[in-house]
Amino acid sequence: MFNLILFGPPGSGKGTQSEKLIAKYGLKHLSTGDLLRSEIAAQTPLGIEAKSFMDKGQLVPDEVVIGMISSALDSNPDAKGFLFDGFPRTEAQAEALDKLLKLKKTAIHLMLAMDVSEAELIKRLLGRGKTSGRSDDTNEEVIKARIAEYHKKTTAVADYYMKFDKVKHIKGEGTVDEIFAAISKEIEGKI
Ligand code: ADP
Repeated sequence: MFNLILFGPPGSGKGTQSEKLIAKYGLKHLSTGDLLRSEIAAQTPLGIEAKSFMDKGQLVPDEVVIGMISSALDSNPDAKGFLFDGFPRTEAQAEALDKLLKLKKTAIHLMLAMDVSEAELIKRLLGRGKTSGRSDDTNEEVIKARIAEYHKKTTAVADYYMKFDKVKHIKGEGTVDEIFAAISKEIEGKI
């Protein structure tokens, strides 16, 4: 198995690169943002609870997303590997993920951290908001709250994996193909 975390602030291109990665390496894509948006669309109690946090640009409580990931892992027993996108976002989520993977006799092999400047992130997210139908992408205050939330809680996750020497930084600005080539190079070194 090969398990990868794609890490980076909102708008850093995780979704775009994830699509290319799953096609090339046959990994199962697990995006907590996508899973949460499906719960909202289906109007489940979990979705209704999550929406109130997401609309404010805040993180959804750890136990909610950990539970979602745990069921997603169980529903994909034959996966060649997982691509985690938007998860883990807190140290508690990272520790929980390690435990879940250990139960399956596997682990995280690599975390790729996408680096993009804040001005570029805001520009990209406002652009995406015009067409994506995502309400959290149309308001600059909510976008700034998400970026601040990322710096406040999520960078601790990179520090967590740094301890195990699993983090590689990727320059997230340039063409989609240039960034994908840089990502692929890091994966080839580990797979
Ligand atoms: P982005 O990275 O562009 O903000 P996502 O689709 O990954 O987009 O996440 C959208 C929102 O969903 C986040 O702002 C947050 O409220 C919630 N969310 C997604 N993943 C997590 C997570 N692992 N932990 C807590 N909240 C999450």
